[in-house]
Amino acid sequence: MTFRNVIQKSRGQAATEGAGVKIRRFIATADLPQIDPFLLLDEFKSDRTEDFIAGFPPHPHRGFETVTYMLRGRSRHKDSTGAEGLLQSGDVQWMTAGRGVIHSEMPEAADGELWGYQLWVNLPAAQKMIAPRYQDIPAAKIPEVTLPGGTAKVIAGTLLDTTSPADSITGITYLDVSLEDGAAFSHGLAQRLAQDDAAFLFVIEGSAAIGTADATLDAGELGHLGSGDEIYLQAKGPTRFLLVAGTPLREPIARGGPFVMNSRAEIQQAFVDYQNGQLA
Ligand code: MN
Repeated sequence: MTFRNVIQKSRGQAATEGAGVKIRRFIATADLPQIDPFLLLDEFKSDRTEDFIAGFPPHPHRGFETVTYMLRGRSRHKDSTGAEGLLQSGDVQWMTAGRGVIHSEMPEAADGELWGYQLWVNLPAAQKMIAPRYQDIPAAKIPEVTLPGGTAKVIAGTLLDTTSPADSITGITYLDVSLEDGAAFSHGLAQRLAQDDAAFLFVIEGSAAIGTADATLDAGELGHLGSGDEIYLQAKGPTRFLLVAGTPLREPIARGGPFVMNSRAEIQQAFVDYQNGQLA
């Protein structure tokens, strides 16, 4: 039995996205371009309305999925398929852009606070041009598993005998885990993950000692985990973290702003289609 250790840490970098939303980017940076199949992880977290209220007016995507998990606040989304929804505390919005979608993601200053995460999950080459779709997964439908010394919300995938209602094309695992001080977490993901599947942890609160290499991840740090049979960690103080894992696609990645394809030619085609009104 080998335990996964932290092979790279990221404290993220500040960026401004959309019409002027202040975010912190943890994946899709110079130091951590991707953790295949995960293309990007942004945190939006502010209690200053002016940091986020400009939102993300209509913009396109093609070739991947966005998974938005709201911890606090509200955001309204509308898209070119006609879907519309209000994302509130604890809700997940899972948008499969496929061949193309144009959507807006506009925060509402209900309580003057916004805190959430957007993860980009790549699609296999063969599925990049599928029809777009939305899955709205309200907080009440996200199952919670009781663990020794904690709980875990199963946003995607399976933990113990509990499976999320989210339909993930690439079969990712996405957990939101809360542990008491000193609680250990090692729940047999080994049965679900291959030894070389990609995995990362993002600590929201507290800190965690990871694996066997004596590495600690503190709040606001992402740890890219290396290969191994099992994920093991111990909470140092009350700790909350996101654990995300998936099978690498191992395909070429070509990025062009809101589009992620396999070649430059496909990126150019996406811009042409968007300009011609043929993307969505
Ligand atoms: Mn978007």
